[in-house]
Amino acid sequence: GRSVKISIIGAGSAVWSTRVLVDIMLKKTLQGAKVFLMDIDEERLKLVYAFAKRYAGEIHADIEFHATTNRVEAISDSDFVINSAMAKGHRYYEMLREATERKGYYRGINSVEWNMVSDYHTIWGYHQFKLALGIARDIEEYAPDAWLINVANPVFELTTLLSRITKVKNIGICHGHMEFWNIVRELRLDPSKVEAEMTGFNHVIWLTKFRYNGLNGYELIDKWIKEDAERYWERWRATTSNPFDIQLSPAAVNMYLRYGMFPIGDTVRGGTWKYHWNLETKKRWYGPYGGPDSEIGWALYTTYLAYQMEMIKGFMQAENAPLTMLIPPKPSGEQVIDIVESIVADIPRKYQVNILNNGLIPGLPDSVAVEVPAVIDARGVKRISVTPPNNKVLKQVLLPRMMRMEWALQAFLEPGRDVLLEWLMYDVRTRSVSQAEEAIDAMLKLPGNEEMAEVFK
Ligand code: NAD
Repeated sequence: GRSVKISIIGAGSAVWSTRVLVDIMLKKTLQGAKVFLMDIDEERLKLVYAFAKRYAGEIHADIEFHATTNRVEAISDSDFVINSAMAKGHRYYEMLREATERKGYYRGINSVEWNMVSDYHTIWGYHQFKLALGIARDIEEYAPDAWLINVANPVFELTTLLSRITKVKNIGICHGHMEFWNIVRELRLDPSKVEAEMTGFNHVIWLTKFRYNGLNGYELIDKWIKEDAERYWERWRATTSNPFDIQLSPAAVNMYLRYGMFPIGDTVRGGTWKYHWNLETKKRWYGPYGGPDSEIGWALYTTYLAYQMEMIKGFMQAENAPLTMLIPPKPSGEQVIDIVESIVADIPRKYQVNILNNGLIPGLPDSVAVEVPAVIDARGVKRISVTPPNNKVLKQVLLPRMMRMEWALQAFLEPGRDVLLEWLMYDVRTRSVSQAEEAIDAMLKLPGNEEMAEVFK
């Protein structure tokens, strides 16, 4: 039949582009597909397009690539739309962070309890929300049957928003849950004997089920904490070279002891302010860099992303350098293209997805996106029953986090200065109304925020 059309919006993404493209090229079931790369940054678009063509030549993949700055052209008649776009780019958000830090909001007003992830833009995410909604509206008009696979953050907010107010079939995807396997490795377990489930919200997922060889896996974690944790931390503090290496950090263990379930992946980066007051506090809980979201960790991460783009540029300039040396022709481990394959070739597999709750987790409203395991095949997402988080996690973590999500959606859908101000009145860093007013002014006065200033008048 007709060949599959996949469009990638924000195809110049430093995190996603090359991984997704190589994954497509490696799939036998996707040979013959048309892939439309779309980005507003022409230089990045050209680079990624040239990369894709040359890589396909090297591994003899039969994929037809197109590059365009026209979103409608990319989306029209697509079977799949992958959104990895981040409006305005990292530098813009660092400006917002700095402007509000100067008013007493360490790591910016957007960093709040259970959302310390530094490119997870919620209350100041106006442009990002508008972009994602615009993409969804284009899909409704030009590719109404397409699946939208959204990897752009904030996945929690965007999945909820798009599921509520558009007709688009959309799945939110995050790779954070894969950090679980670091626990398996550190506990020296045989992965084939592990049975695990993680549920909650995106970036707020908890190990709700953990069996090993038919036994209670949590007993193994308890034993590790008692017998090995101290020695592990000592070595880790001295040797870790990765600010993201925090799955077994003191913060993670402390959250487990506090809430009774183990936090997985980006969940560990969140928590209450107890873990985040300042760099010194962050270092105590997250190791020598203070975790990925400290001023050190985040600077390293954004530098690394820029370096990766430079590496691709360098390889492209060297005409004889095999791209497979830069990125080996192996699956990236990301779920995105596996999901596309499951739908195209009707191969049912279990994934970790973000979809509306609709009763999956009791105690949470139906119209809120949860992150849960689900089976995907040609008919789409098949909901399966999941083990819900415990009462402490529900009441002290998920419900407060959900409230912030609702406020962020409200700020976008019913914008007004009062919504921003109210948000800050609940912020533990706020000492006075004038401090909050000044932070809002500082943010809205920044270049690039003229439209936002108008909307949030
Ligand atoms: P990036 O800035 O490198 O890439 C974003 C791309 O979007 C850029 O090429 C930019 O030009 C493009 N873009 C901006 N505005 C656009 C528009 N209007 N139309 C089309 N394209 C546009 O950012 P990154 O570091 O690669 O991150 C991309 C996104 O992925 C972020 O939202 C980030 O938070 C998210 N992310 C998700 C996960 C996950 O597991 N789901 C993991 C890491 C990052």
